[in-house]
Amino acid sequence: MPFKALGLDPKILQAIAEAGYTEPTPIQAAAIPPIIAGTDLIGIAQTGTGKTAAFTLPILTRLAMQPQRRGTQVLILAPTRELVVQIEENVLAYAKHLPLTIAKVFGGVGERPQIQALRSGCHIVIATPGRLLDLMNQGYGDFSGLQNLVLDEADRMLDMGFLPSIKSIVKQLPKKRQTLLFSATLSKEIEALTHEFQHRPKTVQI
Ligand code: AMP
Repeated sequence: MPFKALGLDPKILQAIAEAGYTEPTPIQAAAIPPIIAGTDLIGIAQTGTGKTAAFTLPILTRLAMQPQRRGTQVLILAPTRELVVQIEENVLAYAKHLPLTIAKVFGGVGERPQIQALRSGCHIVIATPGRLLDLMNQGYGDFSGLQNLVLDEADRMLDMGFLPSIKSIVKQLPKKRQTLLFSATLSKEIEALTHEFQHRPKTVQI
């Protein structure tokens, strides 16, 4: 199946062609159409399967359909600084023909540039839960217009003890939103998380 059949925005199709992708991976073929349609989704997939593009490409397509909206529309939570940086690199490549702004938020470095990025009302925030909650508790970030929440590598975030931070963050987000959860495994803890945060999710397992 070609990428063209999945309903992605033409500017994103152009960017992925430039990145040298010729065909969607199985998780992308299965996850992209329901995410574009607005469905909550549980993706069970390992790193290396193309899972990052499986959620970023349809989310960027949804953003491209509403260019007039201002403020932070998308929050992606990930367990580590390395993963935040990697997700941002992907988003930058796929969104290179779209006028979107991105903020990265993670611990171990100074807060100031991250605060400035949050203040500027960037469209997409990619963050580790601990530092983001710190900054939200100081009053930074406006998620009142948020449309998409992604929990990437949710199993690792639970293993690292981020559950209380994630719960505090999600409490401050609009209830009406699309929530996507990716995990390498579907444990009881992950199921509990999906019950708490998602509405009638579709499960895609690769
Ligand atoms: P991920 O599983 O998201 O960590 O992605 C693994 C690697 O596959 C990354 O380097 C992506 O750039 C690459 N990738 C993702 N989707 C495709 C695709 N459809 N065709 C070729 N490479 C891809």
